[in-house]
Amino acid sequence: MNKRTIQDADLQGKRALTRVDFNVPLNDRQEVTDDTRIVSSLPTIRTLLEKGASVILMSHLGRPKGKARPEMSLKPVAEKLTSLLGREVTFAPDCVGDEVQALATRMQPGDVMLLENLRFHAEEEANDEHFAKQLATLGDVYVNDAFGTAHRAHASTEGVTRYLSPCLAGLLMEKEIDYLGRAVGDPEHPYVAILGGAKISGKIDVISNLLDRVDTLLIGGGMMFTFLKAQGMEIGKSLLEEDKVDMARQLLRSAEARNKQLLLPVDTVVGRSFENDTAFHIVSVNEIPADMMGLDIGPETIARFRTHITGAKTVVWNGPMGVFEMPNFAKGTIAVAEAMAEATAHGCITVVGGGDSAAAINQIGLDDKVTHVSTGGGASLELLEGKTLPGLAALTDKA
Ligand code: AMP
Repeated sequence: MNKRTIQDADLQGKRALTRVDFNVPLNDRQEVTDDTRIVSSLPTIRTLLEKGASVILMSHLGRPKGKARPEMSLKPVAEKLTSLLGREVTFAPDCVGDEVQALATRMQPGDVMLLENLRFHAEEEANDEHFAKQLATLGDVYVNDAFGTAHRAHASTEGVTRYLSPCLAGLLMEKEIDYLGRAVGDPEHPYVAILGGAKISGKIDVISNLLDRVDTLLIGGGMMFTFLKAQGMEIGKSLLEEDKVDMARQLLRSAEARNKQLLLPVDTVVGRSFENDTAFHIVSVNEIPADMMGLDIGPETIARFRTHITGAKTVVWNGPMGVFEMPNFAKGTIAVAEAMAEATAHGCITVVGGGDSAAAINQIGLDDKVTHVSTGGGASLELLEGKTLPGLAALTDKA
C-alpha cells in the first residue's frame, strides 16, 4: 500500500481525529448486539494511545437522514468501548459545535472521546466543506480506519482530509488494502473468484473486471439462473433478472474471447417454494421443473468448485451460493467456506468480501481459517470492480 499509516508517524502529543466504522446493530433497549466492528477498531485505538496521542473517534450509525434521532445515538457504543478498552471513553453530545470543540481542546495524551453520530448532520453525506472544516478543527492529524465507508466521499472520509495533515491509514484499513489490494492488483496464480448472491445487477462491473484478472470465475447463488437462461435453459420459478439476460450472454462471450473459464453450476437444489421446509431435490440444471425454483448449488457443482478452490493460489469470494439463511439450502455456501479453509491451510491467500459472504463464513465458524474476511461489503466490491476508493485515495502518500 502506498499510503502512510499510523505505524510510521510520530503522534506524540497529537490529537488523532479518527474515522471508524461503529455502525453496529442496537436492540430496542439501545444495547449493542454485535460488537465485532468495535473490537476490530481496538488495535488502531491502542496503537494511537501507545504512541502518545489522544484519540477523537467519529462514526455514523444507521440512516438518520440528517436529523438527530436518539435511537441512533452512539452513546451505547461509547459505553461498550469503555469496557472493551478498559479506560473511560468520553461521549461528546454532538460531532461539531462549541461544546465539542471545548472538549477536544482539553484532550490529553491517553484520552479517548467518541463524537455523536456524524449523520445527524446532512452535511456529512453531502461532503459539505464548512462541516468538514469544523470536524478538522478537532484534531491535529487524521486517521481513517473505516474501510466499510471508504468508497463514499463524505465529509468525514474525504472532505476532512483537505484540512489536516498527515492523513493516515489505521491498522484495519491497512490490512484490508493489503489483502484485497493484492488480490486485485498482484495476485498469485491460479487466481479463482467465486461470485454468488441474489442478483447480477450491481455485480456486472465486478464480473467484467474480474474476467480480466482471474483464471477461473465460479458463479453460484441466485445470479446463476440469469446466466443459465442466457444459455437457453429453462429455469422454472428460479430468480431471474429478465433485463440482464443479454448482459449475461455478453459476459459469457467475453469470457470465451478472453480465454477465461466462467463456470456455471451443473446441478441445483430445487424447492417448491421459498421456505426452508418446502419439498426439495437435486436436479441437473437442464432439468429444472417448471413449477420449482433453484435455491442452492448441487453436489456435483460443489465437487467441481472445490477442485478449483483447493487448487488455487489466490481465491476471492463474494456472495452466498444459495439461500444460506435456510439450513436446507446452505450446503453449497458451507462447502465453499470449507474449501476456502482447506486452500488456506495449503498456503493459498483467501479473501472473503464483506456483506452476506462475511456473515455466512462467520455463521459457519470458519472466519479464522481464511486469510482475510473484509469488513466492507460495498467497499470491497468497488475495489474488485477496479475502482479507486475516495476515502483511501485522500490519504497521504508514502514519501
Ligand atoms: P447479495 O446481497 O446480492 O449478495 O445476495 C445475498 C442473498 O442472496 C442472500 O440473502 C441469499 O439468500 C440470496 N440467494 C442466494 N442464492 C439464491 C437463490 N438461488 N435464490 C434466491 N436467493 C438467493
